[in-house]
Parts: sequence; structure tokens; C-alpha cells
Amino acid sequence: MSHCLRLGALLLLEVMARVCDLCGKSPQFGHKISHAHNVTNRRWNVNLQSVRAIINGAHKRIRACTSCIRSGKVQKVA
Ligand SMILES: [Zn+2]
Repeated sequence: MSHCLRLGALLLLEVMARVCDLCGKSPQFGHKISHAHNVTNRRWNVNLQSVRAIINGAHKRIRACTSCIRSGKVQKVA
């Protein structure tokens, strides 16, 4: 049962990768450290937003990180 759930989560991750479509920025991994200094893994996700952008003259929905949007790499649909 739990094995099945883990497989499902893995598949979901592959389908919806936390990767920016423009710069390819992906999550970073590190440790969560409690007050008692228990160390567990954690990850920092990219702040992705799905935006309608103009790519090669066509409107397309892309998943772009907020730094790409802010720096004007995305030409938004009016
Ligand atoms: Zn980006």
C-alpha cells in the first residue's frame, strides 16, 4: 500500500516537474534542523507561476519562475 503511494508520488513529480520553462531553474535540497538538532531532508521549490506568454508569435501557457517574469524574459499576453 505505502509502496504504491510512493510510486504515485514519483510519477506525479515527473509529470509536474518543478522546473522553470525558461531558465531551467529547479529545486534545491538541504537539511531541516530542529531545535534538538534532528536532521531531515527538505527542499526549496522554485516559485513557479503559469503565465500566458507570446512565444514565436503564438500564445502559450508556460511555467516560469518569478525571477524570469520580473526580469522581463516573459512577454505576457495583454
Ligand atoms: Zn526562470
